[in-house]
Amino acid sequence: MQHHIDIKALIVGMTLMSSSLLAFDYKLEPKQVSPSVWCFFGKLEAPSDSNGGHMSNSCYIQTKDSFVVVDSGATYQFASQSYNAMQKIANLPVSTVINTHGHDDHWLGNSYYKEKFNAKLIGTPLQDKTYKSGDKTRIHRMTSPEVHKGTIIVKLDTNIDKKTTLAIGGKKITITPTGLKAHTPDDMFIFLEDDKVLFSGDLVMNGRITSNRDGSVMGQIKAHSQLNATGWEVLVPGHGMIVGKDALKESEQYFTLMKERVIKAIDNDIGAEDISKVVTLPEFKNKAMYKELNRRNVFEAYSELEFAE
Ligand SMILES: [Zn+2]
Repeated sequence: MQHHIDIKALIVGMTLMSSSLLAFDYKLEPKQVSPSVWCFFGKLEAPSDSNGGHMSNSCYIQTKDSFVVVDSGATYQFASQSYNAMQKIANLPVSTVINTHGHDDHWLGNSYYKEKFNAKLIGTPLQDKTYKSGDKTRIHRMTSPEVHKGTIIVKLDTNIDKKTTLAIGGKKITITPTGLKAHTPDDMFIFLEDDKVLFSGDLVMNGRITSNRDGSVMGQIKAHSQLNATGWEVLVPGHGMIVGKDALKESEQYFTLMKERVIKAIDNDIGAEDISKVVTLPEFKNKAMYKELNRRNVFEAYSELEFAE
């Protein structure tokens, strides 16, 4: 028969194809931001096959005998490749991974560190409540299997709900939950005392617009004063490359202007249907993701502030 299909050959072929899915090459280069901290800065865009989901920042703190990772990135392969790059700087295991909040682009790399080092995984209570083993997350949906293969959800070892100081390999690392709904209902920030480095998670972004879908304008503004109270000298945002004294500026300005303008519009009886047309933030129109996210942020701010005052 002309159109005979050899089922056995087809199955063998398909099996070969799926097991030989090529690895995604992140081409990672760590950037040193302080004497003992290196970071991998993500792209200022949505997760996709071209960036491999790497659009958040992931950092390594070097201690005397291990690394502490702050936010583990979006995939197993990202975490594995970031470790390989760091191993060239110091051949140390990873003892601890701290996740700043429950958004999946910041912690799906946990699976690598648990498998390879049995690292202690630390995060917020909401992360474990939101996701359980076997779930498919946003990153799984927005990237192909080649990118997210091996990326699974691992339960945290410790859920932090109050200010906690860890002493790891001679470094003092303080984890502070904001106690607010800010970027999410339970964000936390991490401060490395020795280097005065603050890891803000998504309480701060720069170079791009934030997504306030799970957050609060008022909470963000309060969280920013908590961040400033640490006395930071280097601030690594959840997304964005500015880590010096201007690192927090854009986020502070964004939420302050958002609050002022939305409240003014409410006072002028602007309704939900018109709010995103009336309130704009032209100061930010050239920042990445303004088109995708700003209107929704304005709308969410309206829903929050309409009942607040
Ligand atoms: Zn986030």
